[in-house]
Amino acid sequence: MPDLTSDPVRTANACLSRAQLREAARAAILEAAGSGRHCAVLVVAVEPKDRLLLLTEDWMDSRIAHALHCLPGTLREADRYAILGQRHCCILLPGLTNVAQALLAAHKISRDLSERLSERASEPWARVLIGIACHPDHAAEPDGLIMRADAAQQQAEWSEDDIFLFLPDAARGGAVELPASRAEVLEALTSNAYHLVYQPQVELGNGRCRSAEALLRCRLRNGTRIPPDVLARVAEQEGRIATLTMNVLNMALRQLSEWSSDGVDLHVSVNLSPYNLRDRDLAGAVASAIATWEVEPERVTLELVESSMIHNFDQAAALLNRLKAIGVRLAVDDFGTGYSCLAYLRQLPVDELKVDQSLIRHVLRSPADRQLVQATVDLAHNFGLHAVAEGVETQPMLEALSAMRCDTVQGYLISPPIEADDYLAWLADHQADVFFHLPETDRAGTAQK
Ligand code: C2E
Ligand code: MG
Ligand code: MG
Repeated sequence: MPDLTSDPVRTANACLSRAQLREAARAAILEAAGSGRHCAVLVVAVEPKDRLLLLTEDWMDSRIAHALHCLPGTLREADRYAILGQRHCCILLPGLTNVAQALLAAHKISRDLSERLSERASEPWARVLIGIACHPDHAAEPDGLIMRADAAQQQAEWSEDDIFLFLPDAARGGAVELPASRAEVLEALTSNAYHLVYQPQVELGNGRCRSAEALLRCRLRNGTRIPPDVLARVAEQEGRIATLTMNVLNMALRQLSEWSSDGVDLHVSVNLSPYNLRDRDLAGAVASAIATWEVEPERVTLELVESSMIHNFDQAAALLNRLKAIGVRLAVDDFGTGYSCLAYLRQLPVDELKVDQSLIRHVLRSPADRQLVQATVDLAHNFGLHAVAEGVETQPMLEALSAMRCDTVQGYLISPPIEADDYLAWLADHQADVFFHLPETDRAGTAQK
């Protein structure tokens, strides 16, 4: 069992070159094969939460270098490591009895590095992302181990989890693709290699579908799919989020104006990034896009997550008021996942509360889960807001939401997001149809804003 809790100030094992680390991995694999033990490779990356820091803060590089060079204080004597560039390192853990020990070690490394990085800082400013691959479970030779640990580290970068164990193909059911590299995501952003799909929203009061949420889709030429939140996160880190958001808005407005020419006046919701709220030019840019495409502003809803409205409250409130003055609608996205700081929300000029999928998913699980959603819908109505449920997947969920007098639903039960070219055909097929069955409840008086 690796002793990962012992005195951190131990004799430092030296930092190796890449070639030395591969040789050490080869030896560790041979030794593990002979003894029936395991060994693991960890790829560690330190990622500033805000990439702007890299450009503006001189202390960044030295703080990261210092933390990485303190690694020997965390590692066992038998462990080996190499520093790769300014923010990455690769660690070899030989002689493990099982994979769980590699995970334990990764947690210890993550904790120690995070503590060193945050010394003298008021709040954590970096994520420590660790990918793990083990011999013999994931690869039989050093390069395979390193590659798989690197893939797992990228997976961590795109996910909520900072530590990721490589998942072999069988465990992934062969269905999950390896993540795109950062360079590929940047290429997708610079070449605008993305488009929008539209997910219908249905009003429960009358079964009509007048609005849709525009969602980004991006697939590289080699077939790799880049999830929309990853595309947005990299755009945020690279200072490209204003361009991405305005491209998305312009694409959605052009689409609305095309559909209007076909005689169908739809409403569209567009997602903003929290970073957009720092942009003093945003309201002007939104106003001019709306004027360019000659779309009525009230047909446009801008969605923002709750936390982005609460951080820098004064700045956010000023910008939201400017957006509201243009005439667009504002929605709180993913409500229920963040601060739920209602006293603040009340002061903001929002029109709509989108109840997060994580609450909706469990709406039928227990009376308490049901009450939570009911309370959220009631809260929206008490503040004069339109309540939208996200992630509605089954008829019983829809019926429960209808009984709660939720105003609008969105989810796979109605339809997954649809390509723009197919949208009007879908609408024609479904608009007049009863594609879900409203329960017998009297819905007169449902709050609508
Ligand atoms: P979101 O704004 O909360 O979007 C809803 C997500 O739920 C979408 O995922 C949608 O495809 C998915 N979804 C819809 N119905 C169901 C359902 O019934 N069940 C389940 N499990 N999922 C459902 P998607 O398209 O992958 O988008 C993920 C997130 O990426 C979005 O969450 C949004 O935060 C972000 N995003 C998407 N497009 C943009 C964009 O243009 N700009 C920005 N800044 N972020 C975007
Ligand atoms: Mg959204
Ligand atoms: Mg959402």
